[in-house]
Amino acid sequence: MNAPIDPRKFQNPVTTAKGEKRASVFFKELKTLWFNSGSLCNIECANCYIQSSPTADHFIYLTPEDMAPYLDEIDEMYAHKIEIAFTGGEPYLNPHMIRLSEMALERGHELLILTNAMKPMMRPRVQKGLLDLQARFPGKMTLRVSLDHFSQEGHDQERGEGSFDIALKGMAWLTEHNFTLNIAGRSMFSESEIAARQGYAHLCKVQGWNIDAQDPAVTILFPEMDENVDVPEITVACWGILDIHPDSMMCATSRMVVRRKDEDRASVLACTLLWDDPQFETGKTLKESLGPVKLNHPHCAKFCVLGGASCSA
Ligand code: SF4
Ligand code: SF4
Repeated sequence: MNAPIDPRKFQNPVTTAKGEKRASVFFKELKTLWFNSGSLCNIECANCYIQSSPTADHFIYLTPEDMAPYLDEIDEMYAHKIEIAFTGGEPYLNPHMIRLSEMALERGHELLILTNAMKPMMRPRVQKGLLDLQARFPGKMTLRVSLDHFSQEGHDQERGEGSFDIALKGMAWLTEHNFTLNIAGRSMFSESEIAARQGYAHLCKVQGWNIDAQDPAVTILFPEMDENVDVPEITVACWGILDIHPDSMMCATSRMVVRRKDEDRASVLACTLLWDDPQFETGKTLKESLGPVKLNHPHCAKFCVLGGASCSA
């Protein structure tokens, strides 16, 4: 069994429990701006890190009015285009989702949408909108579908009975219409990464999906996120010891916009992972939010610095 986290750790943003200088990540450039479309989801998974469910309303639906100022800020900051990514909840529950996607594409950005490819995505109005965007902006949109495991058993254990078959129908529809697809899996199951990738490769072949299960940027296997398990704190010396550059952390190149239910405007968070810790709310505008991020959370250590995973494409 894993040891519980030492309560003296992750208390002071500047120093660690041992009194050493805590590591920070300085903002480098914006490669991906994430938008949380809302925390509502059509299902309730056993290990949803953002606590989405059919009743979760901590993040309300993002609207075109919420999104537009951030797209304007990107245009002011950069001459080039970036990646705009949507996560949830399930984005296709948000009634504005097609328009939000269109707004990103109209500005020339690449678009990534995380979805469970279940019933909300399969509603005729959403399908029609997706097909229209696909025709108008060919090659600019990727859908990353959550398939926790390549087996029905493993996936349904996490997401509820029958969810694997429903997601497969969604994948079949997306494949039939030539959408670019990624898979988001989980490494929680006991097999090695090699075995997991072989399992996904077999599933892709049987289902006729054009998805490379061996490419970690296309079939992404996320580690579990348990902030109660003990992890080392990250000091400034760690970068050299581990031979990792702080610029490779997600918070050097990304931010996430959310709309909290009790607030009258959207906020910007340091990353997609730390959505309920006020230390990681970095501002209301993009420009306000580009200061250094102090790695004062177990996820920073376990998931990013030591685990090496990234939520971006
Ligand atoms: S489908 Fe995704 S957002 Fe919805 S509950 Fe499951 S993990 Fe959370
Ligand atoms: S969890 Fe990772 S991306 Fe988020 S603030 Fe910590 S190091 Fe940065």
